[in-house]
Amino acid sequence: MKLVSINSLFLIRNILLKNLYKLNLFVTYRCNSKCKICNIWKYTNFNDIELSGDEIVKIFKNLRGRIRWLNLTGGEPFLRDDLYEIVFAAIRIMKPLFINIPTNGLLPQQVENLVRKIERHCVKNTNIVISVSVDDIYERDDNLRGVSGAYKMAIETFNILSSSKIIEAYFQVNISGYNIGHIEEVIEELLRHKKIIITFAHKMDLFRNFDTTMTIENFKSEAIKFIDKYISRFWRINGFDSVVFLMYLKGMRYFLLNGKLPVRCTAGISTLTIDPFGNVLPCPYKIKSVLNVRDCEYNPLKYYTGAVKKRVLLENYDCNLCWQNCEAIPSILLHPIKSLSRLL
Ligand code: SF4
Ligand code: SF4
Repeated sequence: MKLVSINSLFLIRNILLKNLYKLNLFVTYRCNSKCKICNIWKYTNFNDIELSGDEIVKIFKNLRGRIRWLNLTGGEPFLRDDLYEIVFAAIRIMKPLFINIPTNGLLPQQVENLVRKIERHCVKNTNIVISVSVDDIYERDDNLRGVSGAYKMAIETFNILSSSKIIEAYFQVNISGYNIGHIEEVIEELLRHKKIIITFAHKMDLFRNFDTTMTIENFKSEAIKFIDKYISRFWRINGFDSVVFLMYLKGMRYFLLNGKLPVRCTAGISTLTIDPFGNVLPCPYKIKSVLNVRDCEYNPLKYYTGAVKKRVLLENYDCNLCWQNCEAIPSILLHPIKSLSRLL
């Protein structure tokens, strides 16, 4: 049987058994963008030392056979000179079905280098998805990102990714108070280049953005109106292979209306999160460490058990802080019946 089919079976088995299958690995918190909605770029503590490539390889070895979905995120992941080595170590050691990497698109040359190397190695059994963040169009996007020429570079990056037969490229639009007023214009423009992932801006520890009034909870009725309109033409835009994304959008509608998640959050059950300094976090958005992989021979699962795991699950059990796709999609998959009944 082909490796990809075996991997798919393992993924389904892990989802059904409520086992771990997804690793959110922040490869850096450094960022070369200065987004208005996220303050990561301001608050990075450069006294902490990021995990080296060798340390990350040790983690991968200890998670071999467990991880089917790897989210390599940041900050801006392409600021790491060794991103290519990390991607290849993951493919070689963990053989995930999916690797997704978000980028702000400000480093087209680095993205092109990675794409060409991936093409040279003919990666077959891992689907690599790279999403380019664009929150508005033309100068308005430059203004939101605080970087002159940001939009042009993001389009260039997207075109490089789209030219590859191996990589799946998306635009990722984060909806907030800054763009909700003209979001349909943004979506129409980006649809000219095809695929879009939509997310919504939340106030979160990770983004250090508690002082902003521009996150989505302050624009609920506008966001619901947009979601309803988008859903009405969903199949035409996204096609029939995007049911989970449709459920994510409907889940967002539910979250905005009810102030709680449509299904319990799966963070810490199906997913494991490690920050750039080796801290194991309760979820990608809470930055309080529960242990550090450097203190447990780079084997988070050895200590992420018993009381430590119980504490995380207890903290996340009734958490209703966000409906972000990193955890929302695994949450939908973990509760398929409830999700289908509430969200379709
Ligand atoms: S939203 Fe992304 S690109 Fe913008 S500052 Fe935060 S991490 Fe960087
Ligand atoms: S809802 Fe889940 S992902 Fe969001 S903050 Fe709570 S535990 Fe984290």
